[in-house]
Amino acid sequence: MRRLARSLRHVRPSYDAVVVGSGYGGGVAAARLARAGKRVAVLERGREIAVGEFPRRFSDLRHDLQLSGRHARLGSPTGLYDVRLGEHMHILVGCGLGGGSLINAGVALRPDPRVFADQVWPRELAHDPLLEAGFLAAARWLRPARDPGAYERSKLQALRRVSTALAVEPVAAPVTVSFQEIVNPAGVTQPACTLCGDCCGGCNVGAKNTVALTYLSDAAAHGAHIFTHAKVRHLTRDGTGGWQVHFAVQPGAPEAEAETLLTVSANLVVLGAGTLGSTEILLRSRREGLALSERLGHRFSANGDIIAFGWGGKLSVGAIGIGAPPKLKDCVVGATVSGQIEIVDAGDVGKSLTIQEGALPSAMAPILPVLFLPNGRLLGALQSLISGVYQGPFAGLQTFFAVSHDSASGQLWLEGDRLELHWPGARDEPVYARLDAALEALVRQAEGSYVKNPLAGTMMGHQPATAHPLGGCGIGRDHHEGVVNHKGQVFAAGAGANDVHVGLYVMDGSIMPRSLGANPLLTITALAERAMLHMAHDHGFSFEGVSTSSEAQPAIM
Ligand SMILES: Cc1cc2nc3c(=O)[nH]c(=O)nc-3n(C[C@H](O)[C@H](O)[C@H](O)COP(=O)(O)OP(=O)(O)OC[C@H]3O[C@@H](n4cnc5c(N)ncnc54)[C@H](O)[C@@H]3O)c2cc1C
Ligand code: SF4
Repeated sequence: MRRLARSLRHVRPSYDAVVVGSGYGGGVAAARLARAGKRVAVLERGREIAVGEFPRRFSDLRHDLQLSGRHARLGSPTGLYDVRLGEHMHILVGCGLGGGSLINAGVALRPDPRVFADQVWPRELAHDPLLEAGFLAAARWLRPARDPGAYERSKLQALRRVSTALAVEPVAAPVTVSFQEIVNPAGVTQPACTLCGDCCGGCNVGAKNTVALTYLSDAAAHGAHIFTHAKVRHLTRDGTGGWQVHFAVQPGAPEAEAETLLTVSANLVVLGAGTLGSTEILLRSRREGLALSERLGHRFSANGDIIAFGWGGKLSVGAIGIGAPPKLKDCVVGATVSGQIEIVDAGDVGKSLTIQEGALPSAMAPILPVLFLPNGRLLGALQSLISGVYQGPFAGLQTFFAVSHDSASGQLWLEGDRLELHWPGARDEPVYARLDAALEALVRQAEGSYVKNPLAGTMMGHQPATAHPLGGCGIGRDHHEGVVNHKGQVFAAGAGANDVHVGLYVMDGSIMPRSLGANPLLTITALAERAMLHMAHDHGFSFEGVSTSSEAQPAIM
């Protein structure tokens, strides 16, 4: 398989544009800027993991796990699963070329329209026709689709059986998966999904529409220079109106020495390092003297997101991935998420919630009995060890991903050189009680027991955990209210309230000023697509060959 990244030995001293991070936001920026003919460099801290190289066994998983907290740092800093242990909340993000898209379930939902009616969004964004254009472009490139056989998957059938407890009928969920072989908009051939259930472990088939297979492939095809093992620390002005991007080479970089500090300059810098990465870079840049909003780090949201389990139920769920090549013959799991229950609160969008059935990656299978031992089901777990986790009690294990709304009142700050989340009230956010009640009802219907956190007895403790961190560089009308404006331009504090740092943008989950109540990838991508349309308009360039749709073609293109 063709690699996208090149050796850091070839990094040039300057580019027209530097994109930091390679998740959804960074991917969009890199592809669009490269298509506009800019000389683009992408700096990603993680590794390039090609299709076929994602963890297959538990031993692989261990090598790809990095854990860090106030008292510990374990694993490689380029490990694919980046777990931040926090005093008030734990956070899981992806680390690698493609960011979270490498390990997510790919559920692509639009938020309830009432979310964008919230006054927290500037009018220029909420009423902008380019918002719709952004969603159309995101859908065209990420191609969310429903599994044509979703209702035959045993895990969705199990959800249907238990959903009577909440009096809602589940529906098939749109996921960024190719259910048929296709040549995608970046010109990459993707085979059809084998329904192996391993999306959250990393797709070894190439059927998941990751940022690596879509936007980054497009960026590389249009000349972008993509570098991995490059962790950006901070930004400074270069004295001529441009930017200097300072980064540290990470261990394992081919042909480059770890810990070396390098600098590239560019007139345009787009931060797409995710909620944690972009906020950390700006916090450190502020410490180095860059004038930034006082709101930096504020309004962190977990998007009301949890993962929880039902154990010991009477239904056959079959929600453990079999991987590719399959560990079990004649078994079909489905994509990690096949279906969901949508509970819409007509009076208060903040109380709406979506519950998805999920599958755990096959590489995790050997650890499952250990995870569930603390709950006192030794005998059942041993039976599963003997018969394999695909039979016995683990065949009835239900995994739920739930998403809703919280108050977005966490704050990210630097403790020494380490990013820390401060949110003492997180555990008491009302959303968790609402989700617990709904999930408990579902699990009870299967005569199982609700396991909120199988790791509660370990160093993970009882804190909530999220895989949907949002905020920290929130959009606002001016620098008193937010860190970036509606186009993603970074406010220059100390100047006029609306003044921005010319050439500095943020485009990723960090700019969300509130929870979305929907899995965030589609909104992050859409807002990045929209921001790039505005940037093209403001700077007088266009993206060769990109269309959003024939009707919604923005006037500026
Ligand atoms: C297990 C799991 C399942 C999920 N399932 C879903 C789902 O089904 N649907 C959904 O919508 N969302 C899901 N999410 C969340 C979704 O993947 C994220 O919201 C999304 O990836 C965020 O996009 P982003 O562009 O903000 O940043 P990211 O995708 O997080 O990308 C940021 C990139 O920047 C890199 N980076 C960070 N710091 C630096 C630095 N200093 N220098 C250089 N590079 C840096 C990171 O390594 C990463 O590659 C899931 C997440 C996880 C972990
Ligand atoms: S179910 Fe398997 S083949 Fe299909 S997208 Fe997910 S990991 Fe890839």
